[in-house]
Amino acid sequence: MFTLISSLSKSFSYCGENALRSIRMSIKNLASLSRDEVKNLFSSIDTILTDCDGVLWLHMKILPGAPDVLNKFREMGKRVFYITNNNVITREEFCVKCDKLGFTSTKDDVLTTSYLTACYLHDIGFKKKVYVVGTSGISRELSRLGIRSFGVGPDPLISDVATLVMKDFKLDPDVGAVIVGFDEYISYPKILKAASYLNHPDCLFIATNTDERGPSFINDCVIPGTGSMVAAIETCAGRKPFLIGKPSTYIIDAIRKRYNVDPERTLMIGDRCNTDILLGTRCGFKTLLVLSGVNTLDDVMNWKQSDNEEDRGLVPDYYIGKLGDLLPLLT
Ligand SMILES: [Mg+2]
Repeated sequence: MFTLISSLSKSFSYCGENALRSIRMSIKNLASLSRDEVKNLFSSIDTILTDCDGVLWLHMKILPGAPDVLNKFREMGKRVFYITNNNVITREEFCVKCDKLGFTSTKDDVLTTSYLTACYLHDIGFKKKVYVVGTSGISRELSRLGIRSFGVGPDPLISDVATLVMKDFKLDPDVGAVIVGFDEYISYPKILKAASYLNHPDCLFIATNTDERGPSFINDCVIPGTGSMVAAIETCAGRKPFLIGKPSTYIIDAIRKRYNVDPERTLMIGDRCNTDILLGTRCGFKTLLVLSGVNTLDDVMNWKQSDNEEDRGLVPDYYIGKLGDLLPLLT
């Protein structure tokens, strides 16, 4: 276990604010660079942080060439971390998924927000109980660190709100935190309970991440993400959560506690600009957007021309159609 909390208050003052203020004047198509330019770029990088869904795979479908590119990075001596806002599975389950899809991984290479949320509570010495709006990925990571929790699974409105409030509702006085992650069983009773616990100012409010939606992978379907669930509870509770996942720099503090990561020699790869790329910008990393997931080149160009400085923090240094397109440039 690595100690995370001590650096929270000073997290990322070393490069974040200045980096965010910087204006990215150019965004380069990596595929249009010469092999020498690509070689020079990667010789200036030791650590690669990669998002997963939309970069390596879409749901359970491998994006062509992605496993070969990660293997190539490792061959080139780069340290590769999987850095995901996924909070539905544990790190071990994540490694099983990697294995099934042909990606090499060990538990130490994987940072999920389910795991990091449990680390956070463990490191602040949290002893009470957690009400979880989320999945067993969170409750199992909590349990491994000896933290009690409940709330996972369906909790539908049985009759009506009046009956729920007057007869069926009772707060557990031992609850000291509410964690909100992805919950396919999100319901009126769950929002009501979470907000009621959060009505007590001492109750911690933690969001694993705030991704609005998942990458669409079937029938042009919009998949509501964790952020949708966090927003519902945040609105009702009238409080802002402490954010664990990208673009919160907490996740990078966690890596820096364990490994010697030099921000200037680190590349962040992602498909979503307001999490992956913004994290990279805040931390002073080089950033690469792949166009195989959430954001498009049109999105990026709009932000690049925006008068809003924060929008320009969403603009990556480089982009490429998909990660697999890098392979011929690396070999
Ligand atoms: Mg993604």
